Amino acid sequence: MTGLAAGTVLSGLGVGLNAVVAEVFRVAPMQALPAWTKSTRSFDDERDALRGAIGSVGAHLDSLGAKVGSTSAEIFEALKYLLEDEELFEVAEGNLNDGWSAAAAYGMAVNEFAELLGGDPDFDERVKDLQDLSKRVQAEIAGIKVGLELPSEGSFVIVGEDFSPADTAQFTPAVVGVITISGGPTSHTAIICRSRSIAAVVSCAAAVDLVDGDVVLVDPVGDRVVVGGEISSATQAIKFIDTGREPIIPVRSNIGSLDDAKKAAAANANGVGLFRTELLYLSATSQPDVASQSASYAEVLAAAPAGPIVVRTIDAGSDKPVPFLNMPHEENPSLGVRGFRLIREHRSFIEDQLHSIEFARAHTNREVWVMAPMIATAGEAREFAGLARSIGKFKVGIMVETPSIVTQIADLKGQIDFLSVGTNDLSQYLFAADRMNPALGLLLNPWQPALIRTLARIASEAEAAGISSGVCGESASDPAFAVVLAGLGFKSVSASASQVGAVRAALSAVSEADAKRIATGVLAFSTAEEAKAFVLQELALLN
Ligand code: PEP
Ligand code: MG
Repeated sequence: MTGLAAGTVLSGLGVGLNAVVAEVFRVAPMQALPAWTKSTRSFDDERDALRGAIGSVGAHLDSLGAKVGSTSAEIFEALKYLLEDEELFEVAEGNLNDGWSAAAAYGMAVNEFAELLGGDPDFDERVKDLQDLSKRVQAEIAGIKVGLELPSEGSFVIVGEDFSPADTAQFTPAVVGVITISGGPTSHTAIICRSRSIAAVVSCAAAVDLVDGDVVLVDPVGDRVVVGGEISSATQAIKFIDTGREPIIPVRSNIGSLDDAKKAAAANANGVGLFRTELLYLSATSQPDVASQSASYAEVLAAAPAGPIVVRTIDAGSDKPVPFLNMPHEENPSLGVRGFRLIREHRSFIEDQLHSIEFARAHTNREVWVMAPMIATAGEAREFAGLARSIGKFKVGIMVETPSIVTQIADLKGQIDFLSVGTNDLSQYLFAADRMNPALGLLLNPWQPALIRTLARIASEAEAAGISSGVCGESASDPAFAVVLAGLGFKSVSASASQVGAVRAALSAVSEADAKRIATGVLAFSTAEEAKAFVLQELALLN
């Protein structure tokens, strides 16, 4: 039953080019677990809290076991056995004695057990189970609901406020569409949906009225959701004629995992333009050592498409908190200690990371470029370049994501080899518009003239300074926008693997002169709507 009439159009911001029709499934996403802290309460209070949480999680496992058939019920019994392990409880009590809160004490105890069991492939699944139980117990203590409990069969459009990267990792194959009420076009939900070709519309405030069972058309190209809409009425993207030519600039791929690296290779990308290393560690509660990092990077490098591989050092913080970096609560995390700023507190991690990347580079014999995120000053750029060059045989670069560094590109001449523009964050800081705030989606639209003019400045100043420039923000995944980027003088773009084909097609269909003419023309417009309409019209005429 719905309160919305068939044909009702809900506006939002589309992600990707695929449309889908399916039934709505409403979900309440899991909140992040609080950071581990010392307690101000007594040992007894914390121990009671821990016993209580273990009891409640045990009861929940019983109820899950009762719902399923006898074979699966055994799985829940085995989990309960792990949960109630007395040795584990004793280790947690030791941590309570050291003054840790119940959640921290249990989480640490599980990590210690996991480390003992780790390395033995026979215990891999048990370690995963233990970590899952640890999360459940910690969530119970904090009063947080665990897990999305998504359907595993059928086809659904899931509708929720927004989804954390950890939530999106739980999407089952039954998730064919995603609608977020909040969350902007550059949020991580958007990035992950694009990379998995899941039809998505974000910043769709009116979706709050959708209920389970509604059938909706998710129409990303039309920036809308239509209640009861038919797939045949989905808005069509411009289809570029396949000329068989190479694109006018290389189209690399953005990746965050081994799986993405394989998809990028299958999509025929010209190398990798952004490897988001932090995505490997979003749920790691302890710092990975050099050996395990080296192994993960080597796997990814070996699977990546031919061409250079741009690896970004960790960009933890803000919307991508990494637990082991233990950031204290920040009032305004997107303006806080994130990206390269972590060097002050966590230098050893960044050094370890560069050593691991160097190991993987030498081991796989791939061409690796490294870059640091969230660089705000020329001094930071120099510090990173010096460090990276002292550790490995890399080309060295920075991300341009802050307006401050845009004004200092000339100062970087001879210091760095390349720069890559992160338009997601650059828009956020240029427009003073939180990229996670649904009310501000229009300011984060890449067609905003202020962003395009800033990009023009970056490309020309990079050229003058002899620095190779590229764009790896989500804007480069839009085929029409990628033509503008090439015309402005960027030397490469990097798109989500699922968009590499579409971006390649656009950049093969135009000549360098066409792209330049279109990019020059678009600079004259003063609104995002006019700018986009001009480019789409020019491209339609060429096709
Ligand atoms: C960006 O900010 O555009 C970018 C590519 O980095 P991320 O989205 O990972 O912050
Ligand atoms: Mg960024």
